[in-house]
Amino acid sequence: MQTLSVAIVGGGLAGCECALRLARYGHHVTLFEQKPGARSPAHVSDFLGELVCSNSFRSDELTSGVGLLKAEMRALGSDFMAVADACRVPAGKALAVDREAFARQMTERVIAQNNICLVEREIRSVDEEVLRPFAEGRGIVIIAAGPLASESLSSSLAEVIGSNHCYFYDAIAPIVWTDSLNMDVVFRGSRYDVEHGEATGKGDYFNCPMNREEYENFYQALLTAHKVTAHAFEQERHFEGCMPVEALAQRGPRTLTFGPLKPVGFVDPRTGHRPWAVLQLRPENANAEACNLVGCQTKLVQGEQVRVFRLVPGLERAEFARFGSMHRNTYVNAPAVLAPDLSLKARPGVFLAGQITGVEGYVESAACGLWLGLLLAGRAAGCEPALPPAETAMGALLRHLRTPSKHFQPSNVHFGLMPALEEKAHKKERKAHYARRAQSAFEVWRAAFVR
Ligand SMILES: Cc1cc2nc3c(=O)[nH]c(=O)nc-3n(C[C@H](O)[C@H](O)[C@H](O)COP(=O)(O)OP(=O)(O)OC[C@H]3O[C@@H](n4cnc5c(N)ncnc54)[C@H](O)[C@@H]3O)c2cc1C
Repeated sequence: MQTLSVAIVGGGLAGCECALRLARYGHHVTLFEQKPGARSPAHVSDFLGELVCSNSFRSDELTSGVGLLKAEMRALGSDFMAVADACRVPAGKALAVDREAFARQMTERVIAQNNICLVEREIRSVDEEVLRPFAEGRGIVIIAAGPLASESLSSSLAEVIGSNHCYFYDAIAPIVWTDSLNMDVVFRGSRYDVEHGEATGKGDYFNCPMNREEYENFYQALLTAHKVTAHAFEQERHFEGCMPVEALAQRGPRTLTFGPLKPVGFVDPRTGHRPWAVLQLRPENANAEACNLVGCQTKLVQGEQVRVFRLVPGLERAEFARFGSMHRNTYVNAPAVLAPDLSLKARPGVFLAGQITGVEGYVESAACGLWLGLLLAGRAAGCEPALPPAETAMGALLRHLRTPSKHFQPSNVHFGLMPALEEKAHKKERKAHYARRAQSAFEVWRAAFVR
């Protein structure tokens, strides 16, 4: 086995998980963490593995994507999961932790590892002198500096991969399950996909037509709905191209109908007329099992997203696979700039891990770090591990990073990222089917390669 010498930038969730995994296999890790000398506006503690916001790791049930991901991580001996389970606080079906105890224990694990050398230092550039011994020869550099990576490091990364592939703000529209749409109202079609005055019904989008009264009802609800309170450093950072839909609505009642909800080029097959407004849904994947609400990136709190968007005809019973959100987030256009092993195509010795790759969430970031640790350790031992299959939660998440998209957006893990079920399942049964399939695919994969 070759012993690796690895530099990891960032002692957050992904960085710690990756460092611990590599160290456990006997590799030497130098972990650079900018705290306490420098810190992002959201990091307040001096511990590694800090949770910057909620103390919840979301559902722990196998019938959710993130519950499955946690189960897979536990099976792979994840430090993140071991510490999370040890620091658990009551939270119903979710896994929530005592954040202070969690970060302290993660830090203790790192410090106790003889193969990890913790260096408190901000890395300002991908090409910084101190990284050179790792980047050259047989060394490895892993950037796991997170969604709030320091400004100079983010700029240096943008220089390496091209500034058009590096993003600093995240605007996510909700995603709903396609089979929860009311197809008596929703019609398929792309704009101007009309022949002889009628929609052809062949286009790529699902369209929710609204008459004037329906639109005004939705519009009023949007104006008055509760929004997530932004952190101070996130305020007033909206760019024109990714304004929250409720902020656009504030500009006046017709802004949306001339913008993301414009009806031009559509004929409602039920009325034979152009609707007053149209909310379009774009399939998220080839099998169109889930679709996102085009142009509806939002800061509404989750309960309000359900209430307000269900006022749109066709979405009365929409089930949400993922909620919309907006926040400061440094991430890359992964399908364009990352190789399947998460190395930069422009710098093969430099890898990314965690949220900066385009995964979204505490658990997902740690899972990404775990996978990279496993991959590099396996490679050093002479057996390149196969990617986990897309039917598993980890495989689906990693596949998201490889799936080319015109507008790549970070994603939580959810069933919509997995391939469609081979057989039709009743709506109520669907999640259980996904979960069963994921568990057997995971077992086969794990048995094949994990030491
Ligand atoms: C404001 C905010 C709130 C969030 N809330 C949630 C939430 O409630 N639930 C959820 O699931 N996800 C949340 N996320 C998303 C994300 O899951 C977390 O940010 C998660 O911590 C990401 O893990 P990571 O390891 O990629 O980065 P981090 O955990 O942020 O770790 C990155 C580490 O790198 C260090 N660092 C940064 N730059 C440098 C540098 N140049 N040199 C050396 N060290 C550096 C940082 O100090 C930090 O310790 C939130 C994100 C943000 C920005």
